[in-house]
Amino acid sequence: GQTITRDIWLDDKLVRVAMVSVRVDPDPRHGVLVVGIDLSTQRGEVTNSARTYVLVGLGTLLLSGLAGWVLAGQLMRPIGDLREATGRISAEDLTRRVPVNADADPDLVELALSFNATLDRLEEGFVAQRRFLDDVAHELRTPLTIIQGNLELLDENDPEDVTQTRELLMDELERMQRLVEDLLTLARAGRPDFLHLQSVSVPDFATEVMSRLRPLGDRRWGCVSVAPGRITADRQRLIQAVVQLAANAVKFTDAGDEITVSVRWDEPAPPVRARCMHTDRYLAVAVQDTGVGIAPEDQERIFERFGRTDSARRVDGSGLGLAIVSAIADAHGGTVQLESEPGEGSTFTLWLPGPAEVGADLDDDLTEIPDADKVQPVQG
Ligand code: ADP
Repeated sequence: GQTITRDIWLDDKLVRVAMVSVRVDPDPRHGVLVVGIDLSTQRGEVTNSARTYVLVGLGTLLLSGLAGWVLAGQLMRPIGDLREATGRISAEDLTRRVPVNADADPDLVELALSFNATLDRLEEGFVAQRRFLDDVAHELRTPLTIIQGNLELLDENDPEDVTQTRELLMDELERMQRLVEDLLTLARAGRPDFLHLQSVSVPDFATEVMSRLRPLGDRRWGCVSVAPGRITADRQRLIQAVVQLAANAVKFTDAGDEITVSVRWDEPAPPVRARCMHTDRYLAVAVQDTGVGIAPEDQERIFERFGRTDSARRVDGSGLGLAIVSAIADAHGGTVQLESEPGEGSTFTLWLPGPAEVGADLDDDLTEIPDADKVQPVQG
C-alpha cells in the first residue's frame, strides 16, 4: 500500500526508481509496479543545453560589444577630429579650419560649420587689427623721422634756427596729435559706446552744421532743402562727419567756389540702399562741391584708411577723414555715397536710416533755404 522513490546507480547510470504496490480487481493478489527513469541521460541533456546557451550568450555579448565599439568609434570620430583641429588652432595661426564631414551627424556638421564661421570672424578681426597697427606704425614713422632729423641738424647756438625748428616741430607734433586722435576715433568705431544716440531735430541739426561750416573757408556756402522731422542719431558724430566732408570740399575747391549742403528725406538708389539698414525712409545729408572731382578708379579707395589720390598730395591730410565719415555712417546703419566727375566736382551723401514709421510732419513741404546766410547760427 506504499509508493517508494529511490535514486540508484545501475551500470554507471543514475536511475530514479518509483515502486508502487498495485492490485488489479478482482484478483486479490498484490503486485509491485516498478518504473525507472535514466536520470543521467536527462541531466546530460540539460547540462548540454545550458552549456550551449551560455556559449551562445557569451558569443552574442562579445559580438554586440564589438559592434558597439566600432559604431561608437565611428560616431565619436568627428568629435575627435573636432577636438584635434581645435587644439591645433591658436591666435598665431587662425587660418586652420575644422574639416566638415557631410556624412556625419547633422548636429556635428552644424557645430563644425558654426565653429568655422566663428573662426572666419575672428581671423577677419585679427587681420584688420594687424593691418591697422601696420598702418599706424607706418604713418607715425614719417613725422617721427622729421622730428628726429630736425633735432639732429639743429644748431643750438643759432637763435633763428632754434625758432624755425621749434615752429616746424610744433607743426609736426600738431599733425601727429590730429593723426592719433583720428586713429582713436577709428579704433573706437566698432565699439558699442561709439555712438550716443538721441532724438535729433533735423532742422536744428542743419542750422548747427551750417554755422560750423562757414569758418572752414572763403567759399559760397549754400544750404538747400532742410527736411523737417526728427531722427535718432548721435548729433555730435553726425556734425563731425558733415564738417569733415565740408573740410574736404574746401581743400579741393578754390576761393569763391560753391559748396552746397542739403538735408532731405529721400529714397536711395537700390545699390546704395543695399548697404543700409532697411527702413521706410532715409535722411540724406549731402555735401556738393564744384572742385577737382575724383577719378572713377579712386572712388572706392579713398574711403579706406590712408587712401588718398595723387591730386591730394599737394594738400595737407592724412587720408583718415573719409574712413571716419564711413565709420560714423556705418555705426548709424547707413552708408556714404559718392558721385563725382573729374573736373566737375563731387557730391558726398550720408544716408541715414530714418524713422520706420513716418510721422505726419515729414510729409510737409521741404523748407527751401537758398542762402546759408539766412540760417541763424546756434549759440553755444
Ligand atoms: P585727407 O583729406 O586727409 O587726405 P580723406 O579721407 O578725407 O583724407 O580723403 C581721402 C582722399 O579723398 C583725399 O586725399 C582726396 O584725394 C579725396 N577727396 C576727398 N574729398 C574730396 C573732394 N571733395 N574732392 C576731391 N577729392 C576728394
